[in-house]
Amino acid sequence: MQLTKSEALFAEAQRLMPGGVNSPVRSFRAVTGTPPFIASGSGSRVVDVDGNEYIDYLGSWGPLVLGHAHPSVVAALMRAAENGTSFGAPVEQEVELARLITGALPSIESLRLVNSGTEACMSAIRLARAFTGRDKIIKFAGNYHGHADGLLVRAGSGGLTHGIPTSAGVPESYASETLVADFNDLDSVEQLFNSYPNAIAGIIVEPVAGNMGVVGPTPGFLEGLRRVTAHDGAMLIFDEVITGFRVGAGGAQGLYGIMPDITTLGKIIGGGLPVGCYGGRREIMERVAPLGDMYQAGTLSGNPLAVSAGVATLTELRKPGVYEQIDRLATRLTDGVGAAFRINRVGSMFTGFFNPGPVESLAEVEQSDATKYGRYFHALLERGVYIAPSQFEAGFVSTAHTEADIDATIERVREALAELG
Ligand code: PLP
Repeated sequence: MQLTKSEALFAEAQRLMPGGVNSPVRSFRAVTGTPPFIASGSGSRVVDVDGNEYIDYLGSWGPLVLGHAHPSVVAALMRAAENGTSFGAPVEQEVELARLITGALPSIESLRLVNSGTEACMSAIRLARAFTGRDKIIKFAGNYHGHADGLLVRAGSGGLTHGIPTSAGVPESYASETLVADFNDLDSVEQLFNSYPNAIAGIIVEPVAGNMGVVGPTPGFLEGLRRVTAHDGAMLIFDEVITGFRVGAGGAQGLYGIMPDITTLGKIIGGGLPVGCYGGRREIMERVAPLGDMYQAGTLSGNPLAVSAGVATLTELRKPGVYEQIDRLATRLTDGVGAAFRINRVGSMFTGFFNPGPVESLAEVEQSDATKYGRYFHALLERGVYIAPSQFEAGFVSTAHTEADIDATIERVREALAELG
């Protein structure tokens, strides 16, 4: 595979930007080598600047549930752009997006749009603190909620990939308000509530972990979180930035039948443009400015381009059978390669682990052979299949993938695994 133009661009990018990238995991540090610079995407495929084509399972890290350049999304963007890109004043599409979100997620009666998942989670935590009058929060080791200071404590995604469990620059005093429990281990949560009675503002959790590789909740785990938070008067915050409109129209909360107090969304609701959202019960959201005393704002929040792409995406997802289709394709993929190695899958999100045993905890994730994953990643890239350049991430199937894409992928995965030995 020729990467001549990508190599030249990457060399220059490294002079101009830390690691040559604007988000760490794109740099291929975990798997080594040169990241292809992407020139275009259409449907299930992306093409790099050297003309190499890949079947894409990165999906821009989750937003592109309809695949690349979906005609409805492109048309909505063109229409919006022609009418002006930003006003700093309310626009109709914000109301439409809010209607679509609240209609799909009954736990969200009222919401605020922001520009990223990071902002959504940061604001959700502030809101939980404002509402409860308490300071401490619980997060799970290996869960990632963006890069706000208090959430970069034992974080997943790039934090795991790059071995930076707690970032430099986060004040100790601030990080000490974040308590860390183990995912799928309710005892570890109950111990914290016993140690800090009436002090914990809330728990933030990825209901299906995606940032330590995909790890679904074990039976009773989410129900247990609901029970202990309700008992203590703490908020249960579901970070559905990945799972919202991914694992079903009602997100993970719909799939597992749990009502969180606050939900964060991102990725899919922006259809590939920068959007985030936090929302919940009306009485909680009424604490947000201008109604309440919790301040949070944004120059470009509810931006007409971004919300138009979101509305177009969520409208497509309302068509009958969409989730059945992507789940069926994802099942075809994971069944096809599942005999060869361990795959965790929830809906259309999945991760393959080089670990013979079940993977239900961060400890079991960390037993996976990440070096082997790097070799596997390159063996697939060479064969025109693009997956996440790190063991600790999810892969995504979109509505644009075809059975032929999936079967070609299975074939190439088998070849790649055979090459690894
Ligand atoms: N929460 C989860 C579960 C995520 O996966 C991510 C990003 O990958 C975030 C929050 C942060 O979102 P963003 O990268 O848009 O700031």
